Amino acid sequence: EASVVSVANRKSRELYERACEVMPGGVTANIKYFEPHPIMMEKGKGSKLYDVDGKEYIDFLLSYGALIHGHGYEPVMQAVYNQMTNQGTTIFGTPHFLEIKMAEKLIDLYPGIEMVRYTNSGLEATILAVRAGMAYTGKEKIAKFEGHYHGGSNQFLVSVNPDLDKIGSQNEPRSIPESTGIPDYFVENTVILPFNDLAATDQILRKHAKELSAVILEPVQGGFIPADEEFIKGLRKITEELDILLIFDEVKTGFRTSLGGCQEVYGVKPDLTALGKVLGGGFPVGAVGGRKDVMMISAPNGGRDILSAGNKDKGKDVLFHSGTYNGHPTVLAAGLATIEALENGQTIDQLFERTRFLRNQLEAVYKRQGIDMQTIGMGSIFNLVLTNEDVKNYRDLQKANMTLRKMIDKELLQKGIYTKPLNRYSMSTVHTDEDIAKTVELHEDALKNLRR
Ligand code: PMP
Repeated sequence: EASVVSVANRKSRELYERACEVMPGGVTANIKYFEPHPIMMEKGKGSKLYDVDGKEYIDFLLSYGALIHGHGYEPVMQAVYNQMTNQGTTIFGTPHFLEIKMAEKLIDLYPGIEMVRYTNSGLEATILAVRAGMAYTGKEKIAKFEGHYHGGSNQFLVSVNPDLDKIGSQNEPRSIPESTGIPDYFVENTVILPFNDLAATDQILRKHAKELSAVILEPVQGGFIPADEEFIKGLRKITEELDILLIFDEVKTGFRTSLGGCQEVYGVKPDLTALGKVLGGGFPVGAVGGRKDVMMISAPNGGRDILSAGNKDKGKDVLFHSGTYNGHPTVLAAGLATIEALENGQTIDQLFERTRFLRNQLEAVYKRQGIDMQTIGMGSIFNLVLTNEDVKNYRDLQKANMTLRKMIDKELLQKGIYTKPLNRYSMSTVHTDEDIAKTVELHEDALKNLRR
């Protein structure tokens, strides 16, 4: 099997071997590795990626969801070019107008956002949100859900993808470090909750309420397992009652489940929201937004009237937040062009309809081929989960046939569909009818091939 990939991807293989000499595992993010070796891309256009061997792929990874308008989307490319040429620089290194314009847009779109700060990645946004939560509540622990990913920092690398034999009972999941090098402090101070289990979540939160600053969650786990409405509404109620902040990590779901993210879909207002991915139009970005009283603790002028002198008695009680590239003008120009294109007419509705159509077609193919498969997702993201059983959280997901899914993904990669093995599918506004038809056809071919 491995040799088939190698022959068809000779240059990828050669470059990968070279990469291995200079980067551990030949990659610069562990998740970008897969067997037998990752494929080196050279060009992107619309819904397509082209590798160094000249092979074309329909891209459903879309840079982990970031490219909602696909590769090289003209309005985004133009906005970036205009920003740099009209303003004469890549970055000012000072406050500037686009920071305000984007903040106003986010406040307009996201029910839970009253003020905004920018970061350079989704991870930096979740880190800042959690620090703000600790500063605001004066409590030191956080709670997160089993199987939820919030970026690669110490406090979030707990029980993201733990071994089933280590995780304890559903009623009281254990905190399992996700990597070597994570100090015990973070494992001990991260309380793990079972997603979509309101009774157990309620019990655990009550037990730790005095120490818990915030609960952080992906309202749609991994971008594809939605919270039950009753669960997320219940969680909002409990956290409010217990004086624990609720943080929605909408890095993945922002602009992808609706323009105003999951908080709009569910009608639930978090205290803080982390955004990223689509927000940067393909450039590195993150943002934290939220309640004014929480956000204001990072104000260096102490939140006074803008014309009063400010700063003197402030210092250590201000929340530290900084970053050379925060609010990068080129990035925000790309992000604004991306969002404006989504706001334009029927774009996002059509995107969701087409995603639904692809999901239905795929489900029909697997049914025809006699393979248990359901698509799970929301808006423009979904995953193919190879089980007929109900999938509501990390533990349920392990019932799916991952071995078969990996084999299918490998076949599809050969045939020209790009997702990382086991990864979810993100759709773009530029995937064509032809792309969808071809994707369905290639899935059917792959399933028939595997049967032989
Ligand atoms: N939170 C979620 C829900 C994510 O999906 C990701 C990225 N996959 C992150 C946080 C981290 O974002 P970044 O990779 O930009 O640091």
